[in-house]
Amino acid sequence: MSNHRTVRCRGPYGGEGAQAVGTDCSDPAVFEVARYDLPSLPVCPIHLGPSLLVASRVLWPPEIRLIGRP
Ligand SMILES: [Zn+2]
Repeated sequence: MSNHRTVRCRGPYGGEGAQAVGTDCSDPAVFEVARYDLPSLPVCPIHLGPSLLVASRVLWPPEIRLIGRP
């Protein structure tokens, strides 16, 4: 039972432009990390922690939304 779309994890680097090469996770995203002037970054539980540290322009302190369930 899933009527919302499955968003893929784009962590931990964010997948913007040239950095997209470092984004190779294909798990469903469960959280969304807010960023300063970029779209929110969808991440799986595994990449939530790393993305806070290595993704560009993450808000600090972090703002994290739950967008799905594993
Ligand atoms: Zn991931």
